[in-house]
Amino acid sequence: MTKNPVIAIDGFSSTGKSSISKVIAQKLDLIHLDTGALYRGITVYALRNHFQDQKINLTALKKDLHNIHLEFRNPQQQLVLFLNNQNINTEIRDPKVSEFVSIVAKEAEVRNFLLTTQRAMAEQGGIIMDGRDIGTVVLPNADYKFFLTASTEERTRRRVLELQSQGVNADFEEVKANLLMRDKIDSEREISPLKQAEDAILIDNTSINKEQTIDLILSYIKK
Ligand code: C5P
Repeated sequence: MTKNPVIAIDGFSSTGKSSISKVIAQKLDLIHLDTGALYRGITVYALRNHFQDQKINLTALKKDLHNIHLEFRNPQQQLVLFLNNQNINTEIRDPKVSEFVSIVAKEAEVRNFLLTTQRAMAEQGGIIMDGRDIGTVVLPNADYKFFLTASTEERTRRRVLELQSQGVNADFEEVKANLLMRDKIDSEREISPLKQAEDAILIDNTSINKEQTIDLILSYIKK
């Protein structure tokens, strides 16, 4: 394994990127950064401060980005995200946040705002970062790159189970529609679209479980 490796994990929603990255970070003693949580954090702020007529006022949000301070505390044990000193770890998983996050993440100003934070965290190495554009844009020189995918039905099933375990009443068709909508917006956006980096290893985990996916990724890193 490269000393202090930088590992990029990208892929579609609900392929297990974050929970898999978290375990790999523990096993290899790395920092884990869930970049989706940062986009969700900005969306929480937008819904609280710039939500009018069932829409986010993106112009107002973009002018207000300098008032947003996002910070992970205890990043090596458990990812706890704070927005302006308030714990928003539960709120970022709210279905309403999932509904609007891709619209917020499409904006160049929002992406640039988060780019600096993400790159600064990777400067010292020893990090695993998961998201949509890590291997292509944020850390194009990462030592290892993976791209996760799985069938829509399987991803929906996993997301429903995850929401239910958090006490959220989840409807299969609604969850599926949200996943497909996010896939579409994320893949078709102009800036940093979701796509596999040319040098990333593709992993389809439709028929393998979380532990098997972790073992497969580790088998590449430990070589
Ligand atoms: O990973 P998660 O599903 O929490 O990400 C939520 C949303 O944040 C994605 O659907 C996408 O719109 C956005 N995102 C992004 N770039 C990243 C990570 C997440 O655009 N690197």
